Amino acid sequence: MEQQKIEQHKQILIPPIDLLQSTKKDIEHWLASLVMRPFHARQIMRELYAKYKQRKDRYEVKKKADLPLELKDIVLNQKKEAFDAVGNQAILKLAEKHVSVDGTTKYAFLLVDGKKIESVFIPQKSKNTLCISSQVGCAVRCTFCVSGKDGLLRNLSAGEIVAQVLAVLDDDKSIDNIVFMGMGEPLHNYNAVVSAISILTDPDGLAWSSRDITVSTSGIPDKIIQLGKDTKVLFALSLHAPNNALRDQLVPINKRWPLKVVLDACAQFPSSEKHPLMIEYVLLKGVNDALGQADELAELLGSWHTKGSWFVVNLIPFNPHPYATYERSDAAVVFAFKKRLMTAGLKTFIRETRGYEIAAACGLLTQGKGKEN
Ligand code: SF4
Repeated sequence: MEQQKIEQHKQILIPPIDLLQSTKKDIEHWLASLVMRPFHARQIMRELYAKYKQRKDRYEVKKKADLPLELKDIVLNQKKEAFDAVGNQAILKLAEKHVSVDGTTKYAFLLVDGKKIESVFIPQKSKNTLCISSQVGCAVRCTFCVSGKDGLLRNLSAGEIVAQVLAVLDDDKSIDNIVFMGMGEPLHNYNAVVSAISILTDPDGLAWSSRDITVSTSGIPDKIIQLGKDTKVLFALSLHAPNNALRDQLVPINKRWPLKVVLDACAQFPSSEKHPLMIEYVLLKGVNDALGQADELAELLGSWHTKGSWFVVNLIPFNPHPYATYERSDAAVVFAFKKRLMTAGLKTFIRETRGYEIAAACGLLTQGKGKEN
């Protein structure tokens, strides 16, 4: 009874905090409210993430410092609530896992409210990439993408974003790059995405290099500028059309923020030859894959380059699905388009299609009602 009273007393005194959602700054504020010194935030983060620390070669894995006694119970209890005995997380449960013939692995995760999200692990010769989601569904509704077909269901929390990375690490995958190219428009969920980046890159969190994280957006100008100030991540713009008339159709958000406004914002995002901005362009047969459109694209991007931005173009052959009538451009057309851009002086790559047969390729991720279900 006495013990119960002490516990109740503690609960009244200690303001609640969800540690898995919290950046170091959040934890420092919480400690301040307990009149405790901020440096304990480092110890708390190390306690939570030591197991997941990446890049042992580049970052020294610091020894977990002992938590002060007055914090130990609280932190260890929170940790126990967040992870079960075998390390599974409370906020994200693996619902399905599909492995493609090329090794691409798609994970469907169940959230606590029963909604589903998907993440894709893409093994590559040099570096492995994990593509994560930032929202359940997407409000942008690009006409070629399955993720936006039902609109936005809800934002993910910072913890749910980070948890995707933890879950895939728990599946013994070695991840080099993290890309926000799964479900959702990351900049529509700005605060949670930036908090997640902070936890991922914090030396006492997962110690990821910001340069190994890419945020891809359909183009929200003020948030693009803000992201360039708040983080050091790499940046990708989903362009998909060389003019406003066509982009209005493919990426409807263009009606609100047309090309010039978006590209002006991109010009304020720091870039260099070593860390260029990525321009993503999905190739749709007979829609945006003509050589004349390649010329128009080269002209558009060429004028932008003069503003001091460095960029590369990534051509993405469309991955057909039942929710859109577009077709994939012929391989010869894709190569001709690339050649035209290269001739105009634009560094251009063709993105290899990975995991198509398990609906894990670009534009195919769903909240559980997509192609495979
Ligand atoms: S392409 Fe990206 S921004 Fe467009 S609907 Fe799909 S998830 Fe949303």
